[in-house]
Amino acid sequence: MGPWTEEPGTGQSGPDQPGPGQSGPGQPGPGQPGTGQPGPGQPGTGQPGTVIKDDLRATLERLTALNGPSGFEQPVVEALVGEFEDAGASVRVDHMGNLYARLRQPDPARPDPGGPHLMVAAHSDEVGAVVRHVDQNGFLRIDPLGIVAPVLFVGRRVDVAGHLGVVGVRPVHAQTPAERHQAPPIDQLFVDVGATSADEVAGMGIRVGSPVSYSSPLRTFTNPDRICGKAIDNRLGCAVLIQLFRLLRDREVAGTVTAVAAVQEEVGLRGATVAARSVRPDYAVVIDTLPVEDTPGGPEGRICGRIGHGPVLVVASSGGTFVNGHIGHPRVGEWIERAGANCGVPVQRVSSIGYAVTDAAAVHLRGEGIPTGVLGLPRRYSHSPVCTFDINDAVGAVRLLEEFVTEMGTHAEPSFLAPQTT
Ligand SMILES: [Zn+2]
Repeated sequence: MGPWTEEPGTGQSGPDQPGPGQSGPGQPGPGQPGTGQPGPGQPGTGQPGTVIKDDLRATLERLTALNGPSGFEQPVVEALVGEFEDAGASVRVDHMGNLYARLRQPDPARPDPGGPHLMVAAHSDEVGAVVRHVDQNGFLRIDPLGIVAPVLFVGRRVDVAGHLGVVGVRPVHAQTPAERHQAPPIDQLFVDVGATSADEVAGMGIRVGSPVSYSSPLRTFTNPDRICGKAIDNRLGCAVLIQLFRLLRDREVAGTVTAVAAVQEEVGLRGATVAARSVRPDYAVVIDTLPVEDTPGGPEGRICGRIGHGPVLVVASSGGTFVNGHIGHPRVGEWIERAGANCGVPVQRVSSIGYAVTDAAAVHLRGEGIPTGVLGLPRRYSHSPVCTFDINDAVGAVRLLEEFVTEMGTHAEPSFLAPQTT
């Protein structure tokens, strides 16, 4: 989930008309899968959930060990290229850093299967900061990248361009009672990298503009399905897409599937804006983590959804106003819920008006309007270094998306007025 920005969502996506040869929806290719409905809990491949879970966990461990605040996603994108190529996809990265992975058709004589073109998207960046100033004593001041609450930064370990840093705090003994109850604004925070001078900082290769990330390795609770760490938002979504491609490898699909790992979501959905114009899909599903408050003190009934209760169909989301947001497309939402029902994955329904937006807010406004749904992965402690989730929700998302792709041949044109399809 991204910022609650109030940037004008003009929808002026430019003259990116569908190009020649762009496939239209509702034209399933020959040999379409999806006719044999798998039973509950049995996705098309029949791959056991434990294998999916173990693979997801391992992928997430690799991806969250990397630092990629918005605009500095290079290590993450490099890793994602390898992950998607290992999954058998053809991959390219645009000059902005967006990654495009195309599922290969098993029959090289028929590289274009016809049928609809689906984009599944997650973002590769994480919240963080950049160095704004280095003082003579070697302390750093920072600017935020994305929504990072100072209260979540104070006293934390961070990584600054590959070096250990800590976000400093006045001695608690010296704090006034008021100071003990509130964090300073972010422009008053400072990072201590253990240097004694500006020259020493420069010698470490740290300068204005260097990236700052939480330093918080992935950890598993005593309950092995509950995991916490930094950058869960949205490496978890990236791991889900990689796992999806692993499952679909060498499978004939009645359409084209392009996975996008978009940069700079946390600073205003920037990568996805470009990526949606580039891919020009017939429809899209955005996969992102979703803040929930199934914890003490949460405003009851306000931010709904619970971890461990399945992936979420985000029916609507917006920032503080409705300038930027997304309302789920009815057809895509139907197909998501149907896929969940057909593979035995429970789907929660959540409205997130006023709290956060996803890349769907950008994607659905491109071209002539791209019908878009959002599949949320519920998580606690948003944008903190201890973001917490239940891996079974991600396993469910993988199975649901596998079923969704398997059923692409049955997806009629996703028009606004179309009656419910079979
Ligand atoms: Zn996110």
